[in-house]
Amino acid sequence: MTADAEFEDAFRSNAHAEKTTDEPLIRVMALHALAYCERLFYLEEVEGIRVADHNVFAGRRLHDQIDKGPDIYQLELGSERLGIRGKLDVAKREGGRLVVIEHKKGKSKGGTEAWPSDRLQTLAYALLLSEHRGEVISEAFVRYHADKKTITIPVDPAAAAQEVGAAVNRAKELRATLQRPPVTASEHLCRTCSLAPVCLPEEERFAEDEGETPQRLFPPDESRRIVHIVEQGASVSKVGEQLVIWVPDGSKKPLPGLTVSTLVLHGNVQISTQAIHFCAANGIGVHWLSYGGNYVGAVTPGAGGVQRRARQFRALDDFDLRVRLSARIAQAKVENQVRYLLRTTRGGEADARHPEFETGVARMRNCLGQIGHIADSPVAGNPDVRIETEEAATEIAGKLRGYEGLAGREYFALLPHVLDVVDGDLLFFKGRNRRPPKDPFNALLSFGYALLYRDCVAAVIAVGLEPALGIMHTPRSTAYPLALDLMELFRLIIWDIALVGSVNRKQWTKEDFDVTAGQVWLNADGRRKAIGLYEARKQEKWKHPVLEYSLSYARTIELEARLLEKEWSGQPSVFAKLRLR
Ligand code: SF4
Repeated sequence: MTADAEFEDAFRSNAHAEKTTDEPLIRVMALHALAYCERLFYLEEVEGIRVADHNVFAGRRLHDQIDKGPDIYQLELGSERLGIRGKLDVAKREGGRLVVIEHKKGKSKGGTEAWPSDRLQTLAYALLLSEHRGEVISEAFVRYHADKKTITIPVDPAAAAQEVGAAVNRAKELRATLQRPPVTASEHLCRTCSLAPVCLPEEERFAEDEGETPQRLFPPDESRRIVHIVEQGASVSKVGEQLVIWVPDGSKKPLPGLTVSTLVLHGNVQISTQAIHFCAANGIGVHWLSYGGNYVGAVTPGAGGVQRRARQFRALDDFDLRVRLSARIAQAKVENQVRYLLRTTRGGEADARHPEFETGVARMRNCLGQIGHIADSPVAGNPDVRIETEEAATEIAGKLRGYEGLAGREYFALLPHVLDVVDGDLLFFKGRNRRPPKDPFNALLSFGYALLYRDCVAAVIAVGLEPALGIMHTPRSTAYPLALDLMELFRLIIWDIALVGSVNRKQWTKEDFDVTAGQVWLNADGRRKAIGLYEARKQEKWKHPVLEYSLSYARTIELEARLLEKEWSGQPSVFAKLRLR
């Protein structure tokens, strides 16, 4: 910034206003967001969610390039009287009068007008500068770089003060409520909105009227990668802007920090304090898993989430909503298990299914029917009767868990029918066991579920929710109940299917496992193979069966966490509707 005596007290003005006012001043950029879409204002300013997409970076680059000549000033001003603060792109003297110029990278409206949000922002800057200098400012300008137009904004001080004041009052109203404003009716605004992947406007409109297939504004895959470190004795440190993995054999592997979304450290892997600081500052999650694959803990970047957590607490007190959501999760899980078993045994010789298989599937279907009744009408078979007491909710939730558990046992009992192994084979499976796993198949199942649990914890935290408060799961271990809830939707879709495929392709050998008395673990090579299989499965794209757009399984986990959050925020949603085709 260039400054001279005329403008040098600008920062003092801002700091003074911040100290004397009880309420924090509204950022002028926030007024811009408010004029664009009230929900955008709420998500950014109240919930503290910021997403830096390519448009945001392009805007920052433009501001770095703005002419910083001798007569050009970039000022940061605040006013208690106006209730706003902000950083002007440009203030300058032209022919003795003071003017404000706001730079935008996009195009003007129709080549002749400023967009309403840009106009409001520019008026607010003009008022701030006018108050600071004690001079009337009668004109301001918006420079649109994409179509090279400069639009003049006439400034009538009284009218501008009224317009900006009305926006400030609305901003204060929104700041005081827990209620997120609805999605904008101007759908075109969402297409260029950096918060569309968080807001999910198309999904909400679809859930409301199930009309047109929603346009996907949610990224189909992750732009940054998850790095697993399985070499025992390895360490991670920060060197400049890079994370470097040091392996005991003397080799090292540099990772450009900003290409990484998550580090997963398996077993005896060290990380330096500086590297943890770097990860925390750059939104990189760090997760620790034990040598055996159990989840230990994490340092995870999460959005502020106060309002989101408050809504979550409130929703969990709504017994009816909680039971219906639990039933929906159980329904999705069991229905997918049934569909998978039938799909995998259809065709060819397998079509002559074993009677034991048919009976097991019938029992699962029966459980599914019971869960469906609970989902639709949990009390007395009447969809309109709500669960009002904790006792009633506990009783119905108990039944639900019973049916879900029964179906789960049948599923694992029938899983050998889809496996191409026989008794005596390394991966022969004759039932689920864990803590510790007693055979290679169970070791693989447990390890994959631990990886999935890690992803679900990360998704829950990324959405700004409290993982300790679940819907269907209650705190019975150190595991986060909400992450366990989310996992139920993905155990089969992400891990069981990938694992069965790999077993049937004979991808595992006894060299992948450490076998001791009564327990079996994956060794370093086995873990590397399992991680490769798991991460490859997550990157596969599928067409969401309800939303009808393609995205990776990895992104689907986050999508479902966001849809769940919508559900208990009272917004239309399609949570837990995902089904195998
Ligand atoms: S995606 Fe649309 S509704 Fe959501 S904040 Fe952005 S403009 Fe508003």
